[in-house]
Amino acid sequence: MTVLSSADKIRALMPHDPLQPLDFHRLTKEQAIFSGDMSLDSMKRILDLLDQQQGNIHYQLGFDKSEQGQTLIDINIDAELVMSCQRCLSPMQVRIARHSILVIVNDKTELHTISSDYEPYVVEENGNLSLHDMVQDELLLTIPLAPIHDEADCGATSTVKKIKEESKINPFAILERLKKKTN
Ligand SMILES: [Zn+2]
Repeated sequence: MTVLSSADKIRALMPHDPLQPLDFHRLTKEQAIFSGDMSLDSMKRILDLLDQQQGNIHYQLGFDKSEQGQTLIDINIDAELVMSCQRCLSPMQVRIARHSILVIVNDKTELHTISSDYEPYVVEENGNLSLHDMVQDELLLTIPLAPIHDEADCGATSTVKKIKEESKINPFAILERLKKKTN
């Protein structure tokens, strides 16, 4: 008889291929927990938004059952993206971190039964949902569409500031001029 250590057990429950459909029934029954990394360049739906496509997105998933017997998925994603600032167009780091508790529903008619603590995720009965799709969907919900630097770090702001400073009139010079006039 072989006894699996908990690390082995987690490994055994992990989908071997993130593109393969998740077996919700089994994962929920086992209350599976797993985590890992996916390369950003596999996230086809966000590639156009990125300035650099290298890097990883870290994910962690935990499965459980709701009181109504639905599959619950506690999902965390975490990534450091490089995007273009929409004000100065230079690259900027954008930190992504999102935590959600999803509840799997088979059709939209079930939506009214869902507690507001959960976010419904519609997967048709016998429909396929891969780990990759799920992580990508979470990323799409949280990625900023028009990221901009903080004002102090932005190239565009410092140019505007410089112009403003250069064109600023010295109030003491005006006083001097006024004095000369009255004399
Ligand atoms: Zn900027």
